[in-house]
Amino acid sequence: MTGIDHTHEELRKTLVALTRDLIIIPGTAGRPEDLAQGLEFIRNHMESLTHIQIHDYLYNNTPSLVVLPEQLDTPEILLCGHLDVIEHPDIRSYKSEVRDGRIIGPGAGDMKGGLAVLMELFRNFHTRYPEASLGLAVTTDEETGGESGIGHIVRHAGLRCAAAIIPDGGSLNEITVEEKGLIHLRLITRGHAAHAAFPWYGRNALEHLAEKLDRIRTFFEHLRDDTEDHWYPTCSATIVTAPNRTINRVPDYAEAELDIRFPPPHTVQSIVQDVKGVVGDSVELRIIISAEPTHLSPDPLFLSVTEEITGRPAGLVRISGASDGRFLAHHNIPVMMSRPRVGELHSDEEWIDIDSMVTYYRICERYLTLKLLE
Ligand SMILES: [Zn+2]
Repeated sequence: MTGIDHTHEELRKTLVALTRDLIIIPGTAGRPEDLAQGLEFIRNHMESLTHIQIHDYLYNNTPSLVVLPEQLDTPEILLCGHLDVIEHPDIRSYKSEVRDGRIIGPGAGDMKGGLAVLMELFRNFHTRYPEASLGLAVTTDEETGGESGIGHIVRHAGLRCAAAIIPDGGSLNEITVEEKGLIHLRLITRGHAAHAAFPWYGRNALEHLAEKLDRIRTFFEHLRDDTEDHWYPTCSATIVTAPNRTINRVPDYAEAELDIRFPPPHTVQSIVQDVKGVVGDSVELRIIISAEPTHLSPDPLFLSVTEEITGRPAGLVRISGASDGRFLAHHNIPVMMSRPRVGELHSDEEWIDIDSMVTYYRICERYLTLKLLE
């Protein structure tokens, strides 16, 4: 492998091999040793380059890696990817196959295929132009909020860039311009335990909670509208627990977790106030993580390069999910978020289209050339 001026076929092969190598390392929040191994794999790929500096970060047991050209601390463009994937119950799921022009396997689309493109871009670009102002950041906690990965690198370690490329949303010709805000909210109810044969002696915390959850559901149903991209607040109850393990005992404690997504003009504060208003004082609310809606301000040049390379119009889209882009956007750093064609995200059948990986590579390559060399 020359690492320089790949032909289409060479690039295709390299990207497929890299993606599949990344998929077999599971790398979920529950398997920290795999995350470390994944970063080691990336480091091994980067260490063959001369004139680079590699920074390791560890925050809240979350490792991340930043690769920069020697003597350069603030790159013009930062390529950002995450290595972690979501937890699948069966460890044997973490494998891949190539079928129908796709790589299929957990994390193929979100975002090991995208990360493979970034790694290859960085390696090739740096090999050709060691002075080019380009950086690569790889984190391991995007699926669990990103606070300790890119959040830490930007907030505490102070890494800055003029713009960032994050292939973790949108599609090849769909560039993300807005992301909904996010709240993970815990609801706690307390009651009084009693023998379940004599419920009148107790206050059932679980039933109380269920009633409140029902009211919250009704409240959010009323916020729905018919925008095609579902640009309204949503709320999903995702976890309900009561420590009670006795079937004939009225539980005195219960909790539920909600995943709430919202566009402007709603804010974290206004949504929490809304929920408070719905459930009243008998329910304790705790915010686990929160993020305001984000405007990503992609560079118009990235749009025109996308159109030039794909030969098709590119559009700006709003997405319901939140990404690591918000930590950069918070510092007014424009974020380019599009990606190869992907599907079935977070399932065993997750896929990425191989030709679109090559096209995405070419889009980024052209954009970097225009931004950094001309
Ligand atoms: Zn992702």
